[in-house]
Amino acid sequence: MCMTWLEIIGWNKKQNGGMKWLQRRGCYMNHRVALLSSHFSPFSVVMASEKEAALAAIPSDSPTIFDKIISREIPHHVVYEDDKVLEFRDIRPQGPIHILVIPKVKDGLTGLSKAIAPPNPQRTSASEESHIDILGRLLYVAKLVAKQEGLDDGFRIVINDGPQGCQAVYHIHVHVIGGRQMNWPPG
Ligand code: 5GP
Repeated sequence: MCMTWLEIIGWNKKQNGGMKWLQRRGCYMNHRVALLSSHFSPFSVVMASEKEAALAAIPSDSPTIFDKIISREIPHHVVYEDDKVLEFRDIRPQGPIHILVIPKVKDGLTGLSKAIAPPNPQRTSASEESHIDILGRLLYVAKLVAKQEGLDDGFRIVINDGPQGCQAVYHIHVHVIGGRQMNWPPG
């Protein structure tokens, strides 16, 4: 039996013959949804929306949602914090464990591609030097939290960069994903 959304809301077919096309269309859509559900898991749907978010994001140094997380304006689940770094659970986890590692001060590091290595350490500003320090620190605390979360059999570290890299939030961050078997190549 194929119930359309019109039937579900109580629309009478006989009295409303002019609506038959819409009903058939609704039925067709139900089949399409069923077909799509059988081919794509909810996980794929999440993946698609992440890609759409990344393609819609405009790369810039403007404040992001992560600034609101750092300032506690929006709630989040902190798993690690020190004076330089914050780690919290991703709102749309891609595995049983999915943690984001971010620097508390962005310092121009909207993404990894913006990192600056000083060509001459004696003539560089403290700000430029800090990119190397903070990048190392992000990875090190990522490893600490993987241990804390019991990911002893392995985990995946991801840094998305730019639209093609599927980056949606322009405040550098390291994804720590684990608790399931990973695949290769990534999508
Ligand atoms: P990107 O695609 O930029 O590498 O990753 C951004 C990540 O931030 C995504 O995995 C997304 O789920 C996560 N995210 C976006 N907004 C929020 C939020 O408000 N809270 C949390 N905890 N994670 C978020």
